[in-house]
Amino acid sequence: MRKKIVAGNWKMNLDYQQGVTLFSEIVNMAKDEVMGDQQVVVCSPFIHLHSIFQMAKGATHVAIGAQNVYFEDAGAYTGEVSAAQVKSAGAAYVILGHSERRAYFHEDDHMLSKKVDAVLKQELTPIFCIGETQEERESDRYFDIIKKQLKNGVFHLPNDAFGHVILAYEPVWAIGTGLTASPEQAQEVHAFIRNEIANQYNAHIAEDTTILYGGSCNPKNAPELFSQTDIDGGLIGGASLKSRDFIDIVKVFNS
Ligand code: PEP
Repeated sequence: MRKKIVAGNWKMNLDYQQGVTLFSEIVNMAKDEVMGDQQVVVCSPFIHLHSIFQMAKGATHVAIGAQNVYFEDAGAYTGEVSAAQVKSAGAAYVILGHSERRAYFHEDDHMLSKKVDAVLKQELTPIFCIGETQEERESDRYFDIIKKQLKNGVFHLPNDAFGHVILAYEPVWAIGTGLTASPEQAQEVHAFIRNEIANQYNAHIAEDTTILYGGSCNPKNAPELFSQTDIDGGLIGGASLKSRDFIDIVKVFNS
């Protein structure tokens, strides 16, 4: 059975104290309100990682993630942070390939595949993001784009390593725009991704891969999105900055 996951991406928001305050609200609400075996992941800026990891100890449902790492192990890479370093601060997950990093920091498929390897080498879980731009959707090229991102970013992995990867389908046109993919649009792409995994690996691995949806997800639209056969949870940007909204999204999976 694949895992149900709701992961928050705080992006470059919140100063140190604001992050700690938000996280303490999330942990307290999760303790009282989250009932099920869904996993909550909070991907904070690097500055919060260790403090919130300490606060999460004993919180069964909540784990910590980073939003990026560099692919080298250590050395003269001023300003960069390695997978081993985020692990030592308590991170268990790392978002990779987010469209903002692809667009603003020119991270291409080749670099991302090295980051995936670096994260897996530290036994961390990559949340690997893929998705098409508005222009790519309108010109009906979205399946080709997604296929290429999968092939170049993660399909080099052997079966056992691929089994540790979480995928997030994030149509770029839906991120931070208030435009959500309809449940049918999202399901169509999730099913396509699962089929590509079955072709590359096998049906069993495809069935076990967690595929999250991301793009203007909120407590209102999450129930219908998460009820689709191939959607296993969400990667949440804006709504993860409000504890009430974030936990309400997590509670969609309450049993
Ligand atoms: C994201 O940044 O991964 C995201 C999905 O953002 P938002 O929920 O704000 O669209």
